[in-house]
Amino acid sequence: MTRRKLAAGNWKMNGTSADLVELEALAKAHPTPGCDILICPPATLISRAAAAASAQIAIGGQDCHQKDSGAHTGDVSAPMLLDAGAQYVILGHSERREDHRESDTDVRNKVVAALSAGLKAIVCVGESLAEREANNTLDIIGGQLAGSIPDVVTGDSLVVAYEPIWAIGTGKVPTLDQIGEVHDFIRIRLETRFGAGVGRSTRILYGGSVKPANASEIFAVSNVDGALVGGASLSATDFSPIITALE
Ligand code: PGA
Repeated sequence: MTRRKLAAGNWKMNGTSADLVELEALAKAHPTPGCDILICPPATLISRAAAAASAQIAIGGQDCHQKDSGAHTGDVSAPMLLDAGAQYVILGHSERREDHRESDTDVRNKVVAALSAGLKAIVCVGESLAEREANNTLDIIGGQLAGSIPDVVTGDSLVVAYEPIWAIGTGKVPTLDQIGEVHDFIRIRLETRFGAGVGRSTRILYGGSVKPANASEIFAVSNVDGALVGGASLSATDFSPIITALE
């Protein structure tokens, strides 16, 4: 089973229209990329980013509501993201789970909404430092996978991102063995629950302080099918070598 690698950039709450030049620079640096490239800008930029991005760069959202429309001030729905030009949406990022108290059930409902709108969903899971130090990492990841991913998915519409919370934005990265252990575990859980088709075709990304300097060694770990990159995705200068490492 060959899974096409995915280099995904999560701009978080960063970026205004002036930053769309980074998309042009990325497109210029990777005219025929050997992997999928995705940029998830803030919601305000999605439609302009989709218009500015050339065909080889996909655009995604960073969250969506579980309902398609209604009285939910400030929220954005999956059909709205699709309409704005998004193809993907990141769901259950640890910053959403923490800042907005999103539970596994909330995330699962959002995944259902995203998939039924026709978006690909990137479901984030990851343990805290206290959970890792208590040797609870695999239990936590297993629980998040069971709770956050709905029962009906297809392999090409689901992406899982393993993001240890303590590695996000900190410059700390798990050892390659630790990354491999969790990615192999996620692969087995997906195969057990969804069968070989979905289990083997779902891409599993690593996220948390991925930089040009550490990308190649992380991408060499088994069952790492790409990266979800925060800080280093904000400039084409940093993101481009990470893409190259994946190609
Ligand atoms: P980081 O963020 O690359 O800045 O550590 C990753 C993420 O939160 O997706």
